[in-house]
Amino acid sequence: MDFELSAGERRFRDEFRAWLAEHWAGDWAKVRRRFPTPEAQIAFLRDWQRQLFDAGYIGLHWPREYGGGDASIMEQAIFYEEMARARVPELPNVIGLDMAGPALITHGTEAQKRAHLAKILSAEQIFCQGFSEPNAGSDVAAGQTRAEADGDVFVVNGQKVWTTYAHFADWCILLARTDPSLPKHKGLTFFLVDMRSPGVTVRPLRQATGEAEFNEIFFDNVRVPKANVVGRLNGGWEVAITTLMFERGPRTISRQLMLRHGIDAAVELAKATARDGSTAATDPVIRQRLAQFYIDGEALRFTTLRTLSRTIRGGVPGAQGSAAKLFFSETWQRLLELMLEIEGPYAMLWEGSERAIDDGYWQFRFLRSRGDTIAAGTSEINRNILAERVLGLPKD
Ligand SMILES: Cc1cc2nc3c(=O)[nH]c(=O)nc-3n(C[C@H](O)[C@H](O)[C@H](O)COP(=O)(O)OP(=O)(O)OC[C@H]3O[C@@H](n4cnc5c(N)ncnc54)[C@H](O)[C@@H]3O)c2cc1C
Repeated sequence: MDFELSAGERRFRDEFRAWLAEHWAGDWAKVRRRFPTPEAQIAFLRDWQRQLFDAGYIGLHWPREYGGGDASIMEQAIFYEEMARARVPELPNVIGLDMAGPALITHGTEAQKRAHLAKILSAEQIFCQGFSEPNAGSDVAAGQTRAEADGDVFVVNGQKVWTTYAHFADWCILLARTDPSLPKHKGLTFFLVDMRSPGVTVRPLRQATGEAEFNEIFFDNVRVPKANVVGRLNGGWEVAITTLMFERGPRTISRQLMLRHGIDAAVELAKATARDGSTAATDPVIRQRLAQFYIDGEALRFTTLRTLSRTIRGGVPGAQGSAAKLFFSETWQRLLELMLEIEGPYAMLWEGSERAIDDGYWQFRFLRSRGDTIAAGTSEINRNILAERVLGLPKD
């Protein structure tokens, strides 16, 4: 691939970098826990996405007729890379931008596009993803939430779980079973559900970090208009696959920078940590491990760039995205384990403790990183995808 940006891409990068420098200073990962309430945090994040939207940076590669910028995949990738480089706040509407939006652009009716796409971009409509259920996670097609036709509506009953941001979401992309007599992949339908509908109950689930980022959702006779079906009745699986491919797709570019930031921080931590009359950075085993992380970081960078250039040449994000997701999430966890090892007994201290290194920040990241090998497809599922679709091995 060609690593050089074109003159236009360089201009775009420099302008966006300057915009970010003007609008944000600091490291979001470190200040994100400082809000008095989760509601205050989400209000801040909605406003942040709105600012980016007003400046023309959200939905860059969406079609212009739906409020996007008609930009190239490369510019979209530069956007993610610069966001990661500047350590700015995250976008609260990730599900809307990366999953619901692309699903509607590909499969939605004109009325659905007009009702939702512009509001996804401006963060007026935050989306959540109601796919996983207590007995259907990796095998998401096994979901049992039912939707039964009744006049102009479907009546939905069932439960979803691990639904990120459901407690703030305005809308949910929901997979529900509309024909139990068909094989499991063929009896599902993809719905848009207004989270304020009567019968929707959201219960936050507290994670190991102490934060409640995801939720259970209960649907109790929730009436969803038939006009909110996306794609064909019983054709939900193909719409869901569109969303899952995008979940492991263009955003992966920012992961290699997140890893690089972590590796740089680990080197600084090793240099600053006293050990055996010197510092941890002089320990040959730690040096060896840090060097290996540097190599892994570069490997991820080049893998990501290779996937990007394939996508630019007309391929779709998919199985290759699984490789980057798998490699990032496992390397990231190992890096955080090393950082806690370097901290030694100080790793026991949490935020607010007087002697905690970096205010317990790496402990928080360590606990949060456990979910990274589960969300968006577990490591085992991503290995299966790579084995079958990239290496051509027989199905399991
Ligand atoms: C932080 C976080 C955010 C999430 N956000 C959302 C969200 O917004 N919306 C949503 O719908 N879901 C969300 N999820 C759920 C996530 O998609 C599921 O947890 C994931 O798909 C795994 O499903 P499960 O938890 O039911 O585990 P299971 O599928 O029960 O898996 C249990 C174990 O068995 C292994 N396994 C399962 N099948 C196979 C197989 N065929 N071959 C080999 N091993 C296998 C798995 O790898 C895992 O180790 C989120 C999860 C996390 C951690």
